[in-house]
Amino acid sequence: MFDSIKKIFAGNEGDMPVNTSGKPDISREKSASLYEKAKSYFPGGVNSPVRAFKSVYGTPLFIEKGDGSHLWDADGNEFIDFCCSWGPLILGHNNARIKDKVIETIQHGMSFGAPTALENELAELILKNNKFIEKIRFVSSGTEAVMSAIRLARGVTKRDKVLKFEGCYHGHSDSLLVKAGSGLVTFGETSSAGIPKAFAEETIVVSLNDREALKTAFEEFKDQIAAVIIEPVPANNGLLLQEKEYLQFLRDICTQNGTLLIFDEVISGFRLGFEGAAGYYQIKPDIITYGKIIGGGLPVGAYGASAEIMDHISPVGSVYQAGTLSGNPVAMAAGIAQLSELLRMGFYRDLNNKTEEFVESIRRFAAARSYKFKVFSIGSIFWFAFTDKAAVRTAEEIDPASMEKFKKMHRELLNRGIYLGPSGYEVGFISAAHNKIDLEKAKRAIFESLDLVFKDR
Ligand SMILES: *Cc1c(COP(=O)(O)O)cnc(C)c1O
Repeated sequence: MFDSIKKIFAGNEGDMPVNTSGKPDISREKSASLYEKAKSYFPGGVNSPVRAFKSVYGTPLFIEKGDGSHLWDADGNEFIDFCCSWGPLILGHNNARIKDKVIETIQHGMSFGAPTALENELAELILKNNKFIEKIRFVSSGTEAVMSAIRLARGVTKRDKVLKFEGCYHGHSDSLLVKAGSGLVTFGETSSAGIPKAFAEETIVVSLNDREALKTAFEEFKDQIAAVIIEPVPANNGLLLQEKEYLQFLRDICTQNGTLLIFDEVISGFRLGFEGAAGYYQIKPDIITYGKIIGGGLPVGAYGASAEIMDHISPVGSVYQAGTLSGNPVAMAAGIAQLSELLRMGFYRDLNNKTEEFVESIRRFAAARSYKFKVFSIGSIFWFAFTDKAAVRTAEEIDPASMEKFKKMHRELLNRGIYLGPSGYEVGFISAAHNKIDLEKAKRAIFESLDLVFKDR
């Protein structure tokens, strides 16, 4: 049994096969005892499900501190971190410029519920350097950004239905916790309890990379689809890289049908480049959502569009959206400090080159030994895939059985001081703080782990 939304497997806790790798398992005494306590406070001991280590061996590690590319857990184990808080930390942990700016800001109070100059400053930084949006609204999470963007699209088009893709994650708002049923074009089935069937019926779900399915959907629901939402770089269910021609097709079919195209750039925004995937592919969506990197490690989300579309939002327009802590000054300060660094000349070139070199040498290693293993990557995002397919563009192409291999690899990597997100469906991130020594060490650990995983293939 697994939840298809974030592919959380049940069970396994405590059930570690005997270690035959020659490296002892890391000690987890303190983490395990914190986890025991946490389980009495929080459902499953966590405040976000994938953290519970249900898809890998052992109990979750409780983190004590991070610095640069490194993490330390409660038992004093040290790791090179490739999870980077699931993407926000493009400058690594505890970046001095962000920390200083946050401390300076916090001296003057933490929240006012009134406008501050810091909101202008972050907005200006973004809008002046991003030709795809003219106005923006700050919220406090990616989920909130996407939920608001969907409402905006419905308000603008006066239509109800939204179309999403199997294998894309857009946060946990009701109308998007919906997965494909059977058939080419389906109304979604809810992928969480607690969502009225009527909500799921407003969401159409199709496969990625399937033009026929899209055409059929637009014929079947003519003049009813308010928005098509996609992660232009789907990175929440493996890394399902799409071809530019397909994204352009999506752009065109939306335009032809009066449907708004939403790029959910909560991961890809400020990651592939300052202008995110829109800039990378040079395709202009109607609405873009941001999260993760935009807040420099503090809770910020945002959505942006043309001034005309954004002026449908209250208080000028009739689409209501609000937030007590929206545009929080401390969070804005962290965002300003982080995004300012990203605008430095050559920032993305260096980060992306570093990543390419890293993943390319892993690819060469695996290919030389004919391991059924690929590394897919774009910018500073990578995904380890236990497959021999040259490209994986749809969720259906991922073999769930291959996750057993990831599980083994995850354990071996932890034992060698490498921290990856605790699920084979999650991507890894490289930050500006990862240096040559880190990446060399990580490569060696990855090579050793692959050899063990494929020992008795
Ligand atoms: C992380 C993510 C979200 C949800 O953001 P939260 O801040 O976790 O609510 C939405 N869309 C995409 C593409 C994401 O990666």
